[in-house]
Amino acid sequence: MTAASSPRYLSPAGWNRLLPARTPSPLEGDLQCDLAVVGGGYTGLAAARRWSELEPDASVVVLEALSIGEGNPGRNSGFLLEVALAEDADSSAVSRMDACNRLLRETMAQIVALVAESGQTCELERRGTYRAAVGAAARKSLAGYRRFLDAARLPYAALDREALAARIGSSFYREGLYSPDCYLAQPAALIRALAATLPESVTVAEQACVDSLVRDGADWRLDAGGHQIRAHQVILANNAFAKQLHRGAGRVVAMYTSAGITEPLDAATLTRLGSDENWGLLPAHRLGATLRRTSDGRLLVRTFHRYEREDDPRQLDARLGTCLMSRFPALPQPAFASVWSGAVGYTQGGGPLWGALDENVWISAGCNGGGVVKGTLLGRALAERAFGRETVDVPGLFGAARWLPPDPFRRIGYEAAARWQAKAGRADALGERAREGES
Ligand SMILES: Cc1cc2nc3c(=O)[nH]c(=O)nc-3n(C[C@H](O)[C@H](O)[C@H](O)COP(=O)(O)OP(=O)(O)OC[C@H]3O[C@@H](n4cnc5c(N)ncnc54)[C@H](O)[C@@H]3O)c2cc1C
Repeated sequence: MTAASSPRYLSPAGWNRLLPARTPSPLEGDLQCDLAVVGGGYTGLAAARRWSELEPDASVVVLEALSIGEGNPGRNSGFLLEVALAEDADSSAVSRMDACNRLLRETMAQIVALVAESGQTCELERRGTYRAAVGAAARKSLAGYRRFLDAARLPYAALDREALAARIGSSFYREGLYSPDCYLAQPAALIRALAATLPESVTVAEQACVDSLVRDGADWRLDAGGHQIRAHQVILANNAFAKQLHRGAGRVVAMYTSAGITEPLDAATLTRLGSDENWGLLPAHRLGATLRRTSDGRLLVRTFHRYEREDDPRQLDARLGTCLMSRFPALPQPAFASVWSGAVGYTQGGGPLWGALDENVWISAGCNGGGVVKGTLLGRALAERAFGRETVDVPGLFGAARWLPPDPFRRIGYEAAARWQAKAGRADALGERAREGES
């Protein structure tokens, strides 16, 4: 089994298919620039934008392997968290968490302003988020998140099974929390809007997968799609795939997760889905599923994790359907408009790989499943750091990626942890059948 080496996905990004077709702008020849950014995601676009604010005359080129909207930035579930992810939340470090939350809110406000500037809605709304649990491990993690919200004096509402079911139409969960500190968006529309609002000094080259990065005198040479790009400075913002370009990026692994979005449900079905007409739910256990009901009446489900390999798309329809129906057993099974997978950049310990990798080569990668807002923040901060400006103390506030053993030990470790988690998260993955066996 070989690790995935580039973001060539087996199925199109479902959110992007819901948008009008757009014509990508590919590389048309060799280029010379001051800064090359590898990866046109939230991190890469934020770094490019910040660099051009700091040095408006600099030539900045963003090299994106796919087209904008089709890659990982358009494959996510569209949660924009204004406060720390559950995995990052630490109720014993309140002043550090307060500082992180303040930065995340400021970054979210910048995203909201850019969306307004783009003239597109991107379905961006501050709808908040539910977090919900079934089994003992998930309930423990939910209780930990509640302690963090209490310690950080953040607002939330605790919901029992009935209260949650009244809002979302599913009795699957034993308990949940509602926190208002989250926006929901159409992620493919969002990344398109962020690219469309870049200043003119930033060129975005699409369908430009960087295959190699080598020193070339005082500069760096990047090879992409048969063209050469010479750059004085390089920012690696290609997340789960950065390790293919620099051995210093080996602490970030590609964890594939899969999602499906249904066709719009009919009016009769929607009336059975509870009082909240546009919501998102994050699982308290990582083996649970992310769920959304969109403003145009679709359901989204995201689940499964696979180490460095994409799941077979031919099986996703049935597997995601089973997962969705376990949450909504009384509904007629809706048809998926699209199913797809995406690669999340994961690190050991949850901190990002951020900072200098080599002379004039910088990296920000590994947001562990929550990088739309955090990636934007870290991308901006990285540009400031590379520019020699004072910036956010990223390792001090958000931690740092820990060492990982090489394969095959890494894979063996991952598989052992996955087996243990599968046992602990059985109820949250499977629902009723597993729950009946619980004490
Ligand atoms: C199904 C799914 C659901 C998710 N849900 C959420 C969510 O709701 N909220 C959230 O915050 N996060 C979510 N995530 C994680 C989310 O995708 C990341 O947080 C976010 O996209 C990270 O942004 P990024 O710019 O750092 O990296 P990425 O989005 O991974 O962007 C990296 C970019 O680099 C490009 N690239 C890779 N290799 C190369 C190369 N060699 N040359 C050129 N370009 C390259 C890729 O095509 C990609 O566009 C989800 C991920 C998946 C897969």
